[in-house]
Amino acid sequence: MLEEMMQGALSHLEEAGRYLTLQPEVLEKLRYPKEILTARLMIRMDDGSRRSFVAWRCRYDDTRGPTKGGIRYHPEADADEVITLAFWMTFKCAVAGLPYGGAKGAIRVDPHELSRAELERLSRAYVHAFASMLGPERDIPAPDVYTNAMIMGWMADEYASVVGHPAPAVITGKPIALGGSLGREDATARGGFFVLNHLAVGLGLNGGQKRAVIQGFGNAGVHIAQLLHEAGWTILALSDTGGALYDPAGIDPAAAVKAKRQHGSVTAAASDGARVIGADELLALDCELLVPAAMENLIHADNADRIRAGVILELANGPVTAEADQILDRKGIRVIPDILANAGGVTVSYFEWVQNRQGWHWTLDEVYARLQQVMTREAQQVWDLAQEHSVPLRTAAYIHGLKRLGAAIEAHGTQNYFNG
Ligand code: NAD
Repeated sequence: MLEEMMQGALSHLEEAGRYLTLQPEVLEKLRYPKEILTARLMIRMDDGSRRSFVAWRCRYDDTRGPTKGGIRYHPEADADEVITLAFWMTFKCAVAGLPYGGAKGAIRVDPHELSRAELERLSRAYVHAFASMLGPERDIPAPDVYTNAMIMGWMADEYASVVGHPAPAVITGKPIALGGSLGREDATARGGFFVLNHLAVGLGLNGGQKRAVIQGFGNAGVHIAQLLHEAGWTILALSDTGGALYDPAGIDPAAAVKAKRQHGSVTAAASDGARVIGADELLALDCELLVPAAMENLIHADNADRIRAGVILELANGPVTAEADQILDRKGIRVIPDILANAGGVTVSYFEWVQNRQGWHWTLDEVYARLQQVMTREAQQVWDLAQEHSVPLRTAAYIHGLKRLGAAIEAHGTQNYFNG
């Protein structure tokens, strides 16, 4: 499945390449990661024993600037997944127009099985192992699945002790007390929300019913549920690893957050009229908007045909397989692709890096205004490319990113330069 994931990612690159006149070096460079390092992290557990965990960091491409990408803690993390995610980051930063290349990191661990002290030791061990790869001008991690501001704070502190001075710009998504940016917490969802609103008329979402279904109820899922709810959308269904909850009258996201905090799953928010449903049943609900906000590949060839949403907003990375993408396209379902829809997270991470380097703090209003400016500007460009070439938004987003990557790769110097 993972190799398939990278094949799917590369198929978008090749497809986008057909619409542009590029030097052959451009595609060749983007087909392979620049560097990937694997490390074995050995830590002391609370009971005195020692345990080791495998970890990775991949810098996929740094032509447009220092590499940027989250660190994921997951029991099924894998080198191929890290490489694919780093490839997507390369395109996401290009689509958002940020001066960054793409990277990603992971530790194969179920963080829920570790105590807080064990988690801190593991996070510090990660920075120790990969310190030579990191740096504010080289590679800048951030949170991803099952990592958060607290972990970024420990990592920033560990990096400072390795290099011998504070270097807050080495990591983003930090706690505010350590130089984190206001607005980072909900940036991914808010960025997606800005894109959705900007494209609403073109997507046929400006009138009629507004029913949303959200798969995954973590950072991205919770905040998009709240933003949609505040904007008058009915949240028909929500899900997490504990199951899915459906309420035709609408779910109050605040009640779902409370239920998840107290009982571990949104399904505990069940009230009169609400019922627990299966994961595929959630995907098949009749709605105007489906928001995958969980993990990769959850929409695939075996369930895509049942989807009845009008529009899909991909807050998760790679939630739709390449096969499923074709099915959705045939069904006329518009997909706002991950490399545009969830770019708000890395955009506010970029704002954090800029503030750290300037020694300056922006207000929440400044962060939101700048985020809106970036997201609407790039959404419009992707939309225009989709119209110009009569292609799905995903292909248009890849064309948009590839144009910027191609220009940068060519500007760095090519074979022709030496031949000429
Ligand atoms: P998170 O760890 O906060 O939440 C993930 C949620 O998904 C959890 O509620 C979990 O229970 C749920 N989940 C996992 N597997 C599921 C399944 N099979 N079915 C239903 N729910 C499932 O993670 P997050 O930060 O919200 O990230 C979610 C997705 O968004 C990931 O793909 C991530 O790469 C992407 N993303 C996140 C950010 C960010 O800033 N947080 C930025 C860009 C992209």
